[in-house]
Amino acid sequence: VKAERIRAWRGPAQTADGHRVQLLANVQDGAAARKAAAPGIAEGVGLFRTELAFLTAQVEPSLEEQVQVYSEVFEAFRGKKVVVRTLDAGSDKPLAFANMPHEENPSLGVRGMRIALDKPEILTRQLDAIAAAAGEADVEAWVMAPMVSTVSEAEWFAGLCRERGLYPGIMVEVPAIALVADQVLEYVEFFSIGTNDLSQYTMAADRMSPYLANLTDPWQPGVLKLVQLTAEAGKRHGKAVGVCGEAAADPQLACVLIGLGITSLSAAAPALPGVGAQLAAVTMDQCRRAAEAAVSAKGSVQGRDAVAAILAE
Ligand code: PEP
Ligand code: MG
Repeated sequence: VKAERIRAWRGPAQTADGHRVQLLANVQDGAAARKAAAPGIAEGVGLFRTELAFLTAQVEPSLEEQVQVYSEVFEAFRGKKVVVRTLDAGSDKPLAFANMPHEENPSLGVRGMRIALDKPEILTRQLDAIAAAAGEADVEAWVMAPMVSTVSEAEWFAGLCRERGLYPGIMVEVPAIALVADQVLEYVEFFSIGTNDLSQYTMAADRMSPYLANLTDPWQPGVLKLVQLTAEAGKRHGKAVGVCGEAAADPQLACVLIGLGITSLSAAAPALPGVGAQLAAVTMDQCRRAAEAAVSAKGSVQGRDAVAAILAE
């Protein structure tokens, strides 16, 4: 899609034949949220990475300090949907005050929601703060946990959210969760697929490794098959399944994701017009055929080529 079509594009996003797609922004604090909201393109926030407030702190931020951070983001997207992700620390993002163990393989270690299984107070305080901020704001607050690996973890997290009147979901980043998606959806209201980590864990390839970028590519058919399983489970349960990893920022891959049954895409705000303009240039039938081609390709390169041809028809 040409640069002038991207500049001229205005939301809300839909395919050429009118299939609506919710485009959301990834943000990490109030300033980023205000900047993301300003162009009026993002329909809300699909991933609020709250760990920023924690990772720079030597001691855990107080409830009041946290309420302040969350309120700023809610204020920037007044009346809209804001998906708050609970603390995703560990691995490449160590948490100074949590006394985390040294591990040989931290990306396979105690990270994301796994920290809370042992020390639930940090998580429950964060949920209290999110609930307090959401109660004051005019916002549709959704809350999700990162790095959930089992049905019972999802059940536990959803229970903590519901006790506080919060609308619970989880991220799909661990392949096992995609494989048991139907059972998980008995407990949570939505999924958001983190394709960065889902690619890393599906392909057994470190997302930080400069040698393995070909494997940690979300165009890998194995990764897309897990996206498909997750989207199909969401459809069976009538529940939303979004994507909030880097994949959502790639316009052609965005068409594939929509063709697989994904209902919303969340990316860095500057990427949204490119995605919107690409969706406007294709039909839902092209997206479905692109999805089929990408999932059944021999590899990511072949998938990209096949999809480019279908979307150019
Ligand atoms: C992801 O893993 O795709 C994701 C969105 O989370 P993060 O990149 O913050 O790990
Ligand atoms: Mg992740």
